Amino acid sequence: MTAAAAHTPSAYPLDRIRADFPALAQQVRGKPLVYLDNAASTQKPRQVIDTLADFYRHDFANIHRSVHTLGERATARYEAARETVRRFLNARRAEEIVFVRGTTEAINLVAQSWGRANLKEGDEILITAMEHHSNIVPWQLVCRQTGARLRVAPIDTHGELILEELAKRIGPRTRLVSVVHMSNALGTLNPVKEIVALAHARGIPVLLDGAQAVPHLPVDVQALDCDFYAFSGHKLYGPTGIGALYARHELLEAMPPWQGGGEMIRTVTFEETTYNDPPFKFEAGTPAIAEAVGLAAAIDYLEGIGWEAIAAHEHDLLEYATARAGEVPGLRLIGTAREKGAILSFTVDRVHPHDLGTFLDHYGIAVRAGHHCTMPVMDFFQVPATVRASFGIYNTRQEVDLLIDALKEIIEVFG
Ligand code: PLP
Repeated sequence: MTAAAAHTPSAYPLDRIRADFPALAQQVRGKPLVYLDNAASTQKPRQVIDTLADFYRHDFANIHRSVHTLGERATARYEAARETVRRFLNARRAEEIVFVRGTTEAINLVAQSWGRANLKEGDEILITAMEHHSNIVPWQLVCRQTGARLRVAPIDTHGELILEELAKRIGPRTRLVSVVHMSNALGTLNPVKEIVALAHARGIPVLLDGAQAVPHLPVDVQALDCDFYAFSGHKLYGPTGIGALYARHELLEAMPPWQGGGEMIRTVTFEETTYNDPPFKFEAGTPAIAEAVGLAAAIDYLEGIGWEAIAAHEHDLLEYATARAGEVPGLRLIGTAREKGAILSFTVDRVHPHDLGTFLDHYGIAVRAGHHCTMPVMDFFQVPATVRASFGIYNTRQEVDLLIDALKEIIEVFG
């Protein structure tokens, strides 16, 4: 057993996984790269990189419109990717999967299509105090357009959602509950099944922002019983520019298009246009074809490792990192929920998070320092920003040691 694998659950193929990611083999500032910015975006395995290159070398053409062989091949691979995403989320049918640029676009789609069609003056959208800006601002925009208002369920000092407070805010004017599955700023895993049950008991649909959840745990939209589920490919070891919105078929059928153009129509005259069926009604223009194929390769890759193995490995890293963080003088963890994904957010006395991030880069360690697109969370904890180390399938306990040792050194000099 190698040093890298020394503490992980014995069957986990850590060395093989690391070898699949060419970017991890490099040095940064003369040190081996320690990549701990996975919540922002993950590195890509050669299986995804090679799939993209092969697709462009052999099968690329525009889709859904060409009768020639390449057009047919590209269309088949794009639609096969949709089927892979369907299987990944356990949606009932492939038509329930809309390809979008990512989580942000998925939520904007729901806000502008479903929201504009269903919201009136005085209606309410309920979110939580730990949402990413992309699950706040699209709702503010549609509230301004329709006269609806945004309500916010509070969190506690551990960064946990206060479920009773959320329940209290579900009222006769609530039209949608939109909640993050796993918080990018705190790591908190929300009790999304219970939230869906609470909302459905009042006949209210639920959107789940799965941007951070999908890389860490298996998601089953039928078991969750949610109405919308959004995620991004680039946080799932796949390409940028591609993600998916799952929505119940009957919702998609009733929703109006939100962008007009090619592909989303059935017939067009200057007087009137009729629209294509879902999901095509929501995929105006030439989509991210190769990226969808690359996303399917990423999903296949992760399924090859297995969700149980991934979850166990990342849980071990989080526990280990949380314990070792206690050794760093003046370190305050931001986000100590009982149910957490592999994210360690923290501040350190007397050293600004941005400075810490820059110093860590000198050790070859990539972390994120900032508000993580969750300014209300920073306000709640009364910090300007945090440092966030976020772990993925290829991280090791050794890398956690390097982070902790570097933090101790930095604090000794600058703290
Ligand atoms: N929601 C959460 C919880 C996120 O962490 C992110 C990205 O950091 C997003 C939404 C937005 O994802 P994207 O920028 O891929 O659209």
